[in-house]
Amino acid sequence: MFAYTDFIPNTAQNGGVVFALSDRYGGFSQPPYESLNLAFHTGDESAVVERNIIHMLEAFRQLDSRCAQAQNLAYMTQIHSTHCVVLGENLCDDDLCGRGSAGEESMREIESRDLAHSVRQGSGVAGNGIMNMGEADALLLTRKDKPAMVLVADCNPILFFDRTHNVAALIHAGREGVFGRICSSALARMSEYSDTRASDVYVFVGAGIRKCCYEVGDDVCAKLESKERERYIQSREGRYFLDLESMLRAEFESLGIGEWEFLPKCSCCQKEFFSYRRDGVTGRFGLVAMLV
Ligand SMILES: [Zn+2]
Repeated sequence: MFAYTDFIPNTAQNGGVVFALSDRYGGFSQPPYESLNLAFHTGDESAVVERNIIHMLEAFRQLDSRCAQAQNLAYMTQIHSTHCVVLGENLCDDDLCGRGSAGEESMREIESRDLAHSVRQGSGVAGNGIMNMGEADALLLTRKDKPAMVLVADCNPILFFDRTHNVAALIHAGREGVFGRICSSALARMSEYSDTRASDVYVFVGAGIRKCCYEVGDDVCAKLESKERERYIQSREGRYFLDLESMLRAEFESLGIGEWEFLPKCSCCQKEFFSYRRDGVTGRFGLVAMLV
């Protein structure tokens, strides 16, 4: 069910963030989505995905006593952008249970960008406590006991946690997100929202495709400046491999992030994770986080 779980306390030691990275085991989906596929858009049966998510959330609640209050679960329609939405403070349980709206503040966020498109994409609540926040690739968590998840199969699932202000962000950072510096955008959004300072931020990066497996073509190499190519493209037997982990480390360093950890696992090498590169049609695993 979970490949990794952790809790990071805030500075005041009266709260913090609990997070868990799922693997592909312990769900109900059939091949090629076996078994804990958490994403609806993959072609898997919606009812089974919903069952998987509810099952995973129940396991999350049982991680420890701090998680017992986890109510509902937010996620994004991820589009490889650098757009960030806020899981709003004024989000109430009524919003989640039947009005079919994603909460006033979050809807304002969506409206300000492209409401019509979001609605077409099905933002809102399905009545099962699973809430789509619309199209975005970073989600700010501002309220306790409201879990959210980011979904991946080779892209990097990332958690930012501001220890001082007890706010967090979940980030989907694939190649386009890393090239577009989505982590910098998310940090800027956190700073706008709660005066987050980079030095107070703890970062966790879950399993993603690493340079051992991430072969790219000339077109991708051409998007990097020559210095970046030297640093981030590894050449082996005439083939090119992209090192997104090093790009992220450099970005964290340049931002002045206080502390960061990478789970030392490649989603493409390691069969416990879904990998789009390895399997094509497949499921998605998730990084789930909740403020406590
Ligand atoms: Zn690998």
